[in-house]
Amino acid sequence: MVPGVRLVVLGKQGAGKGTQCVRLSHHYVVPHVSTGDMLRAAVKSKTPLGLRAREMMDRGELLPDDLVMEMVGERINESDTRARGFILDGCPRTIAQAEQLAEMLRPDRLDLVLDLDVPTSLVLERLASRRVCVDCGANYSVTNPPMINWTCDVCGGQVIQREDDTAEAISRRLELYERQTAPLIEWYHKHKLLVTIPGTGSPDDVTARAVRVIEERRSAPGILKSEEFS
Ligand code: AMP
Repeated sequence: MVPGVRLVVLGKQGAGKGTQCVRLSHHYVVPHVSTGDMLRAAVKSKTPLGLRAREMMDRGELLPDDLVMEMVGERINESDTRARGFILDGCPRTIAQAEQLAEMLRPDRLDLVLDLDVPTSLVLERLASRRVCVDCGANYSVTNPPMINWTCDVCGGQVIQREDDTAEAISRRLELYERQTAPLIEWYHKHKLLVTIPGTGSPDDVTARAVRVIEERRSAPGILKSEEFS
């Protein structure tokens, strides 16, 4: 049996987090919990949370910590995540969220926090060409479109450019990332949970690197053999 995993994946927007989280969730047979996807679903179905979130998301701003962590807390308490774990994508974004997450998981803890390191110039290029399915969130790009006329290969939904992938919102999100989320790297480093891997190369290369560091961690839980891994 494949053992599950409790993993957080960090990285700038466009670092390939979404793609790698989907792959790792298949590999470890655990749910991919993406706060961005959950919030977009709430916006689409106009729930009270979605109505509150919409404008802030369109402006590329972070939502209040408590709002997001309540949603995450409910999700990670469901039976599938309790039984096997999760790949958490897009959360935590602030140290306050990381603290709340650690509290929610007690007496357990995360297995690992994976930081996908990609240069900003590459991230900007990827975000400008990114396209997503409005229904299932599958990722495409201008150079890797769906097979038929911007119709999702997975679910048949419409494939579009996200409203927060405009040049203005992208630069705001990257600036926010530097200011608020990058300190998380330091925080998780101090808590001996962080491993940084290059997010460059093919998706297969990055997944193979990720699986290697996760397995390394499993075989020696107290010790991180490679905090910088290439
Ligand atoms: P993402 O798809 O992860 O880039 O998230 C899209 C948007 O959802 C972000 O720009 C924020 O407005 C909001 N969001 C997602 N996750 C969080 C989080 N952990 N904390 C605050 N806001 C979030």
